[in-house]
Amino acid sequence: MLGTAVATPLVDAFGRTARDLRVSLTDRCNLRCTYCMPAEGLPWLPTDEALTDAEVVRLVRIAVELLGITKVRFTGGEPLLRKGLEGIVAATAAMTIVDGGRPETMLTTNGLGLAHRARALRDAGLDRVNISLDSLDRERYARLARRDRLPDVLEAIDAAAAVGLTPVKVNSVIMRDTNEADIVPLAEYCLSRGHQLRYIEQMPLGPKHEWDRTQLVTQQEILDALAERYVLSPVAEPRGAAPAGLWEVAPDAEQPGGRIGVIASVTAPFCGACDRTRITADGQMRTCLFSRTETDLRGPMRAGASDEEIAALWQGAQYQKKAGHGIGEPGFQPPQRTMSAIGG
Ligand code: SAM
Ligand code: SF4
Repeated sequence: MLGTAVATPLVDAFGRTARDLRVSLTDRCNLRCTYCMPAEGLPWLPTDEALTDAEVVRLVRIAVELLGITKVRFTGGEPLLRKGLEGIVAATAAMTIVDGGRPETMLTTNGLGLAHRARALRDAGLDRVNISLDSLDRERYARLARRDRLPDVLEAIDAAAAVGLTPVKVNSVIMRDTNEADIVPLAEYCLSRGHQLRYIEQMPLGPKHEWDRTQLVTQQEILDALAERYVLSPVAEPRGAAPAGLWEVAPDAEQPGGRIGVIASVTAPFCGACDRTRITADGQMRTCLFSRTETDLRGPMRAGASDEEIAALWQGAQYQKKAGHGIGEPGFQPPQRTMSAIGG
């Protein structure tokens, strides 16, 4: 525990309280998904600008033990490229949240290399994983991710389920004229294995000038495609701060039924209930994926700031969180950094 300080929640001017911290562990990646990165990659962060493992753990500890964070998700870039991941997870899982429990510790990953690390990560204290899978067709996957790695991802999903990193959530970005044909097969794959599928509307966070609203496959289009095969009904339970709207799929002769989600960030934004705060791999705090400003926590930390001083900086910045991301509003401008550099 951090001394005897009392946790003060991360609130903003619109009355939202952040409980969910997203930590980017690297801006690098071993895939080049077309909606996220250019084929040639990006100028990566110099090593001395990236937080060390100890610095990451310190910021997470401040968030959990001083600022009331209860859920920590590691992401990137590709977080499995971080050698110290197991140690960072173990340190996080051993922290104590404000009510005395331990933080829920999660990972969002493309799955490459997860098969042989899943058990160690679970043993370190990881609770769950989200694994990205945009196509079950090997050739289409290779075109989308610009790498022929579908078998590794499927192996990762099986391994995660086998060691109990469950429920495994599968994230799928759907794009027009690219992988719409995967909408039903992805559902079939997840429903039959008990995984939780989340379709994601493509957001303007990829390579510059490559997003066009008219090319967006919307939540409604995804639901229409699913309705041709399944009987769907909206889940009635309150959604809270969850980004995905959920639908119940009725069982039938071919599949056992289950729940499917859509993260409709563009056509049905959920900013009003957002409970997230973010740290980039270089120690910049962001209130939103779409923020155009960041608050430097690495500089003060390296200059000797105390935990309480860093917590105060974080609180001040979170208070400024905007009401919404503003996609579709006049004058909307995407952030300077792309998704892989922010941490999705
Ligand atoms: N590399 C890991 C992965 O792919 O899961 C973690 C980082 S990735 C940026 C996190 C999630 O963001 C993935 O599910 C990915 O599909 C999604 N994503 C990336 N770019 C996106 C975009 N422009 N719009 C919507 N989702 C996007
Ligand atoms: Fe890498 Fe994830 Fe971006 Fe794909 S979505 S390029 S796996 S960071």
